[in-house]
Amino acid sequence: MSTWLVTGGAGFIGCNFVRAALDSTPHRVVVVDKLTYAGRTENLEAVASHPRYAFIRADIADRAAVAAVFDAEQPSAVVNFAAESHVDRSIDGPAAFVQTNIVGAFELLEASRELLARSGGERARRDFRFVQISSDEVYGSLGATGAFDEASPLRPSSVYSASKAAAEHLVRAYCATFGVPGIVTNGSNNFGPHQLPEKLIPLTILNAIEGKPLPIYGDGGNVRDWLYVADQCDAILRILEHGRPGEKYNVGAGNERTNLEVVDAICDELERALPAARNAALGHAGVTRYAELKQFVIDRPGHDRRYAVDATKIRRELGWRPKLGFEARLRETIRWYLDNPRWCASVESDGSQRVRRGSPAA
Ligand code: NAD
Repeated sequence: MSTWLVTGGAGFIGCNFVRAALDSTPHRVVVVDKLTYAGRTENLEAVASHPRYAFIRADIADRAAVAAVFDAEQPSAVVNFAAESHVDRSIDGPAAFVQTNIVGAFELLEASRELLARSGGERARRDFRFVQISSDEVYGSLGATGAFDEASPLRPSSVYSASKAAAEHLVRAYCATFGVPGIVTNGSNNFGPHQLPEKLIPLTILNAIEGKPLPIYGDGGNVRDWLYVADQCDAILRILEHGRPGEKYNVGAGNERTNLEVVDAICDELERALPAARNAALGHAGVTRYAELKQFVIDRPGHDRRYAVDATKIRRELGWRPKLGFEARLRETIRWYLDNPRWCASVESDGSQRVRRGSPAA
């Protein structure tokens, strides 16, 4: 039985991936997570007693801690989800992004290089994978048409995306220079269960349910290519098992929506799932429909206008495709937040989640 190290496995995408990996592969899954504000042990409750699961609390930028994990676990794969992931936070405090997203990736690559050097054979190298979970944001902003493919230049606009781009370059360099079999995956905006309400979709759902304003940055016209988290995890599993080292794979479902369209779709769906007329919180807020809660707010500095990825390569090479459309997945996501008030209360217990960050007025 081989061991996969899943860094950042207590976060949003990581915890969905851990469950998918335990369900659909025979491997041991060892989560390595610092448990920052974004890392939640609640996210891993469902797998806590699984016989092939283990958890190690460690900082990926701590060389000694990473070396100890590699010595103990002798992994056959590293899937690096661990990151500071919120663009707004990278405006208020860029240092943590450089430390975790760049230095952390570097330390994991160094430990991988040493592990392969010690195990010394072609076989170990052939069987080992380092999968870096990158983002479509590294490509920068698009105009009204077109989509990024894997050959598009990296032109990051935020400290978050710059740090993710730097990590991507390191993975590529360790592959070319030291033969560490690295693969990069550039996923578009994820949504689904376990996402913290500092991000657009859960923030909108929870504020709407509670009759609070639904903030929309700028004119609401920024476009993102929405990807359901289970589809992202399926793509990563395929990349781990069948992707080609040295390559990168874009992952996107072709669900381009403006932020305003996303907020409107959530309001429409909530009118069906929890009609405003029957939600006392809206009565207290003095509104009769969720859409009346929309509120345009000052834009994010450096806010990329549009992202879209061309996912032809992963579709063609690895047979990946999203299983359901955006509206069906949004419905499932809203249902998950309605059905999991205990999780919502727990991750919001310090009151810091739905605070506006990165605002020029802040
Ligand atoms: P998240 O913020 O929900 O989770 C990040 C996890 O990393 C948390 O568990 C946190 O505790 C952990 N972590 C942070 N710093 C660490 C450190 N120094 N050492 C160990 N663990 C640390 O993030 P997410 O939304 O699940 O994103 C996961 C990965 O996917 C990130 O690398 C992100 O850049 C990438 N990504 C995210 C999206 C998206 O839409 N969310 C899209 C594309 C790519």
